[in-house]
Amino acid sequence: MDTTTLETASRVSLDNLLDDLRTDADDGLSPDEAERRLRDEGPNELRSAPPMPLWRRILAQFQDPLIYLLLIAVAISTVAWWIEGAEGLPVDALVITLVVIANAVLGFIQESRAEQAVAALQAMTHPHATVVRGGQTTEITAGEVVRGDILLLSEGDSVAADGRLLQASALRVAEAALTGESAAVGKKPGTLDGEIPLGDRTNMVFSGTAVTQGTGRAVITATGMATQMGEVARLLDETERDDTPLEREIGFVGKMLGAIVVAIAVVVMVTVWLVSGVDTLDDAVTVLLLGVSLAVAAVPEGLPAILSVVLSIGVQKMARRDAIVKDLGSVETLGSASVICSDKTGTLTSNEMTVQEIRTLSGTASVTGVGYAPDGEVECGSEEQRFEDELVLMGGALSSNAELRETDGEWEVLGDPTEGAFLVAERKLGVHDRRDNRFTRLAEVPFTSDRKRMSTLQRDHDRDEVVLVTKGAPDVVLERCTSVLCGDDVVPLTDELRAQLSADIEEMSGQAMRTMGVALREVDAGDVPDDKGVADAERAEDLETELTYLGAVGMIDPAREEAADAVADAHRAGIRVIMITGDHPATALRIARDLGITDDDGRAVSGVELDRADDSTFAELARSVNVFARVAPEHKLRIVDALQADGQIVAMTGDGVNDAPALKSADIGVAMGITGTEVTKEAGSMVLRDDNFATIVAAVEQGRVIFDNIKKFLRYLLSSNMGEVLTVFFGVVLAGLIGLTEASGAAIVVPLLATQILWINLVTDSAPALALGVDPQTDDVMARRPRAIGERVIDLGMWGIIVFVGAVMAASTLLTMDLFLVGGLIPGSDDLTTARTAAFTTLVFAQLFNVFSARSPITSAFHGLGTNRWLLAAVAFGAVSQVAVVEIPLLQTAFGTASLDLRHWLIAIAMASGVLWAEEARKLINRARHRRRGREADKASKGW
Ligand code: ADP
Ligand code: MG
Repeated sequence: MDTTTLETASRVSLDNLLDDLRTDADDGLSPDEAERRLRDEGPNELRSAPPMPLWRRILAQFQDPLIYLLLIAVAISTVAWWIEGAEGLPVDALVITLVVIANAVLGFIQESRAEQAVAALQAMTHPHATVVRGGQTTEITAGEVVRGDILLLSEGDSVAADGRLLQASALRVAEAALTGESAAVGKKPGTLDGEIPLGDRTNMVFSGTAVTQGTGRAVITATGMATQMGEVARLLDETERDDTPLEREIGFVGKMLGAIVVAIAVVVMVTVWLVSGVDTLDDAVTVLLLGVSLAVAAVPEGLPAILSVVLSIGVQKMARRDAIVKDLGSVETLGSASVICSDKTGTLTSNEMTVQEIRTLSGTASVTGVGYAPDGEVECGSEEQRFEDELVLMGGALSSNAELRETDGEWEVLGDPTEGAFLVAERKLGVHDRRDNRFTRLAEVPFTSDRKRMSTLQRDHDRDEVVLVTKGAPDVVLERCTSVLCGDDVVPLTDELRAQLSADIEEMSGQAMRTMGVALREVDAGDVPDDKGVADAERAEDLETELTYLGAVGMIDPAREEAADAVADAHRAGIRVIMITGDHPATALRIARDLGITDDDGRAVSGVELDRADDSTFAELARSVNVFARVAPEHKLRIVDALQADGQIVAMTGDGVNDAPALKSADIGVAMGITGTEVTKEAGSMVLRDDNFATIVAAVEQGRVIFDNIKKFLRYLLSSNMGEVLTVFFGVVLAGLIGLTEASGAAIVVPLLATQILWINLVTDSAPALALGVDPQTDDVMARRPRAIGERVIDLGMWGIIVFVGAVMAASTLLTMDLFLVGGLIPGSDDLTTARTAAFTTLVFAQLFNVFSARSPITSAFHGLGTNRWLLAAVAFGAVSQVAVVEIPLLQTAFGTASLDLRHWLIAIAMASGVLWAEEARKLINRARHRRRGREADKASKGW
């Protein structure tokens, strides 16, 4: 099996090829053999670069200029310690090194967690392939396909690997991904000669291309990097996941803050130098360490990692609610969606079709019973009518690929529910066996949402002739009819009759029924394609004219129970809901009204009307109409474009291959998990595992919650860091005022020690920020309008809060220091170490209080205080750690702290809580102002 190459696969004879690949055209590989090949040849994947080894990933955590600087400072301090006689241990150097390592480990854990989450996501959206192994048709993931597998292809599949065709019927494949050619290429088996360009190898199918029509069977000749797509991937540079706009913005904010913080750190160092006069090497090292530690602690270098952990945890949460988001960037887009365009059938409705009425020329028959169990009656008035009904139901059942199955008294439909409904109704009439014995299927012209109909060619054994049976949208079918069945007679379809039948259909549609027409014609034996599949689909399609109309059925497809509420939720959240369906306008409008998608004056626009509309009319329709009916997939694309041109963020659902362009073009392409084809799933940025509209709305809500949580941890981290910077900065600048200079005596003046600053960073940064990232909803996210495009995550209001909170934190910390120190504004009685420990403790607790404030910019911190257990745990952990660092002797030596008595503790904590009360006051004022503005707006709208 080594002689077949990319070049020769299209040229060797099929027999040789099968021999070469040691496989069987009918039965495929044995499961054991397939497993062996998978082991030997590796998975069918476009390999990305080999994963980075563990040690390099850990080392990468240290790759940060600030960390380098810190390590250099540590080295200098060690040298200084050594020069000065190496007395005792170089405590600072050791502690700082340990803290840096601890930080790196935390960072590494966070990053791995994020990577695992992303990998888990990718596993959920693995594409699938259908292969024959050991004579059995089985579905496997595309990665498991091996050379020699027999791959089955049908419309909407994406081709899993390169293969040579064994069989094809009306097979067309879009190879744009490979050749750039946008038109689909016809494919059929055969052996080609000589050098043939890729685009002309019509006997081959290639990995990564899409089946747009027909069916086929191919033997796999190459997988993974050995495929044509692999060649392309090898040429292109391996690209990593692109950063989302949000990640880019946060990255930018981080860098900007970094620069500011470093500048402040330099100012602090220079100020200390000037204020205290640095005489010894030891002093110089202390100042250097202080400055660098401040920079390390206050630069939010952990932001991107926390961001991706929060995004990926959020995405996993969505997946548990059946919305599988394929890339992290879509989470934020989801939160800002302003229009949701949804399919009707199966998404807004439950897609459990039951035939309720049969309308033929002789009258209307009601069908009783609901669901897929064939319990019920077809109530026909007369013998003529019964004959007509029989033909309608038999015809519908003949032109169908669904299967009705009973297991333990439970009936289920495999395949299209619309087709299943015919099978059920046919059994209610009791003509199932008769139909089965009388007809043999010869060929099929498949259903597409463009054609809105499907036909089969059948040999009728009773009358020894061939008939074409067509079922589809009744208006479409009726257009192709020239006569109509009347009893067991056929009469010409006069304009009058046509109008009567149309009115029948309209009437059923107006009652929210999905309608389906059935027609047939005799076919000249010479016109019958010889091959079993449709060898020549175009020719069979040509036969769909001059049909005899049999009648139409009306089916109910009840709206999903949760759909109306979901629509209301979307509206409350400022999101417009648009229904786009291939179904009849009257049916669509009726359901849209029931669900509140449109009001009673709202109208439905049809595809025909859209075709006639010029660009400006189209734009106007897209802006004002919420129901689009009898549309084809290309209309979806135009609707997306028009809405986007209008500044909307559009979510668009789809299932068929032809929906793929619209899904790609939409801001959020939503593919159906159940009815969706592989191609659509690949084109979409989100897959709905349950096909349910309500799930889209839930995902939007979740997206908004995640976005809120990102704001929460940004508010927390940035304001806390601001607090640290301001404390050190003003501690140095105002050292004389608060009594610090006096207390320091001959030594240099530093409000907090370098190790203490690093400690604060270690215990208060990661855990609370992560806990905020998974916070449950605090503010009602669905009560606001969608976030505008281009709106900054950290807007001016948020910067205001960050500076405000930071200032309050610094003030309470320095005030605590002053309170306990002997001199300064408020005379106290403690020595420097104790006062500094109390200030250090105040700053840590202030950050812990700030965790609760940061949950919302407007809602009180006491609201829903206990709802996030992670948050409580993170805060408890921080508090316990602080007690430990103050009271445990070993840690006292390490971090330069001294034991505090109860009075110190209580005062420090009380001072620390200042930040909470300040925020509560600010929020109170803010809420009052909001309410007043709301009342004024009310007055204005009432014309007062
Ligand atoms: P939707 O799913 O939005 O209701 P489709 O594009 O699936 O719209 O269907 C459009 C129309 O085509 C339907 O209203 C129906 O009349 C017809 N149709 C749907 N499914 C089939 C089918 N399997 N065979 C024939 N006609 C169909
Ligand atoms: Mg459909």
